[in-house]
Amino acid sequence: MTTTADSATVTATADDLTTELTGWLAANWDPELTVEEWWDRLGRSGWATPTWPVEWYGKGLSRADGVRVQQAITAFGALGAPGGLGTLLAGPTITVHGTDEQRERYLLDIVTGRKAWCQLFSEPGAGSDLAGLNTRAELDGDEWIVNGQKVWTSGGHWSDLGMLLARTDPDVPKHQGITYFAFDMHQPGVEVRPLRELTGRAMFNEVFLTDVRVPADAAIGGINNGWAVANTTLMFERSGLGAGGGGGSVSALPGTVGGDLPRRAGDLLRVRDLVDGGAASPISVTNLAALARANGTLDDPNVRQTLAQLYSMNEIARYTNLRQRALAREGREIAGLGNIAKLSMSRILRMSRDLCGRILGPYATLHAYDAGEQEALVAATGGGARPGITESMLFAQAPQIYGGTDEIQHNIIGERVLGLPKEPSADKGKPFRELPKNG
Ligand SMILES: Cc1cc2nc3c(=O)[nH]c(=O)nc-3n(C[C@H](O)[C@H](O)[C@H](O)COP(=O)(O)OP(=O)(O)OC[C@H]3O[C@@H](n4cnc5c(N)ncnc54)[C@H](O)[C@@H]3O)c2cc1C
Repeated sequence: MTTTADSATVTATADDLTTELTGWLAANWDPELTVEEWWDRLGRSGWATPTWPVEWYGKGLSRADGVRVQQAITAFGALGAPGGLGTLLAGPTITVHGTDEQRERYLLDIVTGRKAWCQLFSEPGAGSDLAGLNTRAELDGDEWIVNGQKVWTSGGHWSDLGMLLARTDPDVPKHQGITYFAFDMHQPGVEVRPLRELTGRAMFNEVFLTDVRVPADAAIGGINNGWAVANTTLMFERSGLGAGGGGGSVSALPGTVGGDLPRRAGDLLRVRDLVDGGAASPISVTNLAALARANGTLDDPNVRQTLAQLYSMNEIARYTNLRQRALAREGREIAGLGNIAKLSMSRILRMSRDLCGRILGPYATLHAYDAGEQEALVAATGGGARPGITESMLFAQAPQIYGGTDEIQHNIIGERVLGLPKEPSADKGKPFRELPKNG
């Protein structure tokens, strides 16, 4: 039986786990390897994705143990596992819904970082109402021909493959006619256009798909069953985000386009702050306290009070997470806890941003977008301006939008957990083709 990557199947004692991992690292880590060589060893060993099933490049560990593994790899001084949406979303989804043949085809390239993935879900008229998506796929022999537009595609410009949602039957209600495909981004008809964000970076994109092709055997989870498969991906997204992503040792990019595969592994080591459960955010509570201590604002009662509040909220989130894992081990759950975890994480980030603004004072309003400008700004303000920190402050607005907005999380809790009346819906049961469309 295949276990989901999210379910806790094995919980090792911390000592056993660390001893086994450290032994393996001592025998295998070598900074002279290329990233590709190192990730090949790490991925095949199961230590890159330890929460995945044992039979599919994992060790069947709980998420808490998975975070411990990442932290132990960093502490050892080795390069962490490939990051990105392949290991976070595509791989776990394929372990649940893929056929064995599809697992063979896709998973090894994910755990070894050879291929990078993006998520082709949102469209200009379909974000919160994802099931209203318009991108269509029409069967032509043993291939589907896809036309449409996606938007907010994080990492679309460096991805080899995409998790694509497309409408395969417009004659049934909107949730029932969607299929989930593993989609090859390197083909004619795929146009990726960058979108610049508040932070100055262009992390996400618009993706235009014109007469592009997907083989029939790249449909994950069956034709017209894409809504269920997409919900599995979203569940992994929410639980990953609510747990703070769990990242502690990721420090290189996967994939054939912008990936770090040919580089020397030792050159990519970036030892990250292990305090704060592995959070590397410049606006983590630990870093904010250090910042306040350094610039003398720690005596401000408002700063102290908010620091204490943030610390408490982080601890509550951590204990809630532990409680959820403990229940999962017994096959039980508290409905809505994943949604609450995501809401709590996005609130903590916004509070951290606001506190950081109070600590930095007017310097928090100064930001620069490229390395040259940043240096000039830091020099001109005598170190007062902190572009590395203001970037995190600007990004703090994002988590309440991606992975399902805060309002949508509230709706889910209200309707599915508390049993409140559902929002009125005029499109229930109507074929997608007959629904009024935007624009
Ligand atoms: C940093 C970032 C990265 C992203 N990366 C990706 C990616 O890689 N792939 C991808 O597919 N998408 C990605 N997204 C898109 C994200 O999933 C959508 O932005 C999100 O689902 C919201 O959709 P929307 O932007 O269309 O807003 P809308 O759905 O138009 O919502 C607008 C506002 O209306 C509110 N609203 C909408 N419906 C309801 C309702 N029923 N009840 C109450 N309030 C409602 C929303 O909460 C929001 O405040 C990313 C977004 C961000 C910010």
